[in-house]
Amino acid sequence: MTETTKTLCPYCGVGCGLEASPPAQPGKSVYRDSGGVPIWKVMGDRSHPSSQGMVCVKGATISESLYKDRLQYPMVRDSLDQPFKRASWAEAYGRIVNRIQTVLHTQGAEGICMYGSGQFQTEDYYIAQKLLKGCLGTNNFDANSRLCMSSAVSGYIQSFGADGPPCCYDDIEKTDFAFLIGTNTAECHPILFNRLRKYHKQNDRVKLVVVDPRRTATAEAADLHLAITPGTDIDLLNGIAHLLLRAGKIDQQFVESCTSNFAAFVEVIQQYPPDVVAAKCGIAQVDLEKTAKWWGASNNVLSLWSMGVNQSSEGTAKVRHIINLHLMTGQIGRPGAGPFSLTGQPNAMGGREAGGLSHILPGYRLVKNPTQRAEIEQLWNLPAGRISPTPGRTAWDMITGLETESVGLLWIVATNPAVSMPDLNRTKAALMRSPFTIHQDAYYPTETAKYAHVLLPAAQWSEKTGVMTNSERTVTLCPAFRSPPGEAKADWEVFAEVGRRLGFKDEFWFQNSADVYAEFAQLSAGRPCDVTGLSHQYLKDNGPTQWPHPTGCKTQYGKRLYTDLSFHHPDKRAKFAACHSKGLAEPPNPDYPFVLTTGRLYGHWHTMTRTGRIPKIQQMHPEPFLEIHPRDAARLQIENGETIEVRSRRGTGRFPVLVTSAINRGTVFVPMHWGELWAKDAAANLFTHDAACPDSLQPELKACAVQLVPVKSIVRLDERFDRLDSEVRDLNISLMS
Ligand code: SF4
Repeated sequence: MTETTKTLCPYCGVGCGLEASPPAQPGKSVYRDSGGVPIWKVMGDRSHPSSQGMVCVKGATISESLYKDRLQYPMVRDSLDQPFKRASWAEAYGRIVNRIQTVLHTQGAEGICMYGSGQFQTEDYYIAQKLLKGCLGTNNFDANSRLCMSSAVSGYIQSFGADGPPCCYDDIEKTDFAFLIGTNTAECHPILFNRLRKYHKQNDRVKLVVVDPRRTATAEAADLHLAITPGTDIDLLNGIAHLLLRAGKIDQQFVESCTSNFAAFVEVIQQYPPDVVAAKCGIAQVDLEKTAKWWGASNNVLSLWSMGVNQSSEGTAKVRHIINLHLMTGQIGRPGAGPFSLTGQPNAMGGREAGGLSHILPGYRLVKNPTQRAEIEQLWNLPAGRISPTPGRTAWDMITGLETESVGLLWIVATNPAVSMPDLNRTKAALMRSPFTIHQDAYYPTETAKYAHVLLPAAQWSEKTGVMTNSERTVTLCPAFRSPPGEAKADWEVFAEVGRRLGFKDEFWFQNSADVYAEFAQLSAGRPCDVTGLSHQYLKDNGPTQWPHPTGCKTQYGKRLYTDLSFHHPDKRAKFAACHSKGLAEPPNPDYPFVLTTGRLYGHWHTMTRTGRIPKIQQMHPEPFLEIHPRDAARLQIENGETIEVRSRRGTGRFPVLVTSAINRGTVFVPMHWGELWAKDAAANLFTHDAACPDSLQPELKACAVQLVPVKSIVRLDERFDRLDSEVRDLNISLMS
């Protein structure tokens, strides 16, 4: 094969277009990785509407990750203390089908769980929903989007009546005021940030405010950085709303005709005067006032957020209070304006479309809605009542289900919970107790493989054909252009084959992933995410396309949502939230006086399953670290590069410290990437807790209380104990003699 293939970057939700060329092209030299191995060459795709040819280091080096440590064959073992042995697919399928049948017989369908991933293509997601929620009758499918985006999902649903980010990337270059909260866009969504930074630099009138306890690379570029105390986001948002109301910067007509619950919201925000808010947030009152003034004076306001907002025990309320500001000022449904969540993963959006969380069904439908369940049952030709009316287990509920022995089979696909779940010591202990775990992944080893009874080799990006949807609802076809290694298969093929072997032959009739997408698209008819006008062939012929895109749609009419100012609630109005700030689930106290916050670095991706295997990225970020403010470091008598022990109520780890005034006093930061495969005792989730948002059930991975002890003082203490020990020994000897 010598042609260039257009595809999509499989890392973050920006969804940059890529062009891949084979290692050797006629008349050109062979392209090689840093070790001299011939590899596919990957460049930005200038024709992709989302990224216009730009890529960051992750996209540029993606092909270096395709060859090393690939899992090539199914592997099985009877218990976790045995070594794996190679198996045929037939044997692996046999074990899985037997186990499913046993669990169905002994525990019922609720004993079966699958934990999937925003790395899935939409076809993988869709077939998993059909198998679990349709054929088996359990809603126990959840994805790692639960740890990433579920607060955005529930915030949109509660405010607008349906999920779906209303904005598009072009809004970045049309706004007058960009309000970034809980997002280090410069490192986590770098290409999007490049667009914003360039536009901001070229336009003096455009204001950029960044809200973050750390002075990140994103905050460095801002006109104003609000370094709020962790857990005070809702205070800040209500404080801005208070000032907008006081200044009369309300779009009265929009509020009256297009929204509900405004009076309750006003009652709440009246309790957030600027002096109180500024003190609570730990910022200058004048900065709070400046932010409200810029918001009120701007024609078009755009808010961007990601995990800093979502990963919170009040994540949904935070999302809704960002949306509140847009509703009270009518900043939605037009170019350059609106609330815009940035997805962490390449196809978290596609997962939402396909029903890839335990409370939703394909086509932005809800498990709890009887009409919507019946629609899916009919479309899937299932008996009425097959789909359970109860939301399934979330990712964390699967872990606790292992503890109570109510989970009899856990199928983990394309994700690494032994690093990414909260309270890792508890998570690992629960995984250890699992009676039957399947881990389906492209790589071996991973931290999670240690807890598996069956390993299934997965084809990944470049080796299977499917679609992905990025943060701005742009759907891109990602064709296969290389063969998978060994016997690796596309995830959807594995799920479909298990379905057929369980007796659901008609339900899994698909010959290829184009068939799968075609069936999924039909289910989206008339839904907010209508993609009935899309198919693999359409996307091949017309390139990346935003949804909604119903049958017969000739133009890109889905660029922005809510341009008609009509929302999805029955009364067609958007709904104000009226919540008070609750703060952190685990605030600091004298025993655990620091707030530990976690985040991502520019080069690494999640738990390093890919990027840990790319030398250039390893050199860029060689080791984990802990950021601490100089005054805190001085108080602890620790210097740059020395090792500190971090202790939370759940776990202990050690990090070299990075003393920097870029972080608030009383707060420390560690990156979330390093699991035990890449560094000893440096996983951020050793410390985090399982408290979650009551609406989105997304855990608060962004903050927990810790104590810090310089290792040199532990060593000194150990030496003192050793000395004491030997003195006591000497004393005993002399007493005895
Ligand atoms: Fe890939 Fe995101 Fe980087 Fe774009 S910004 S190249 S999607 S990792």
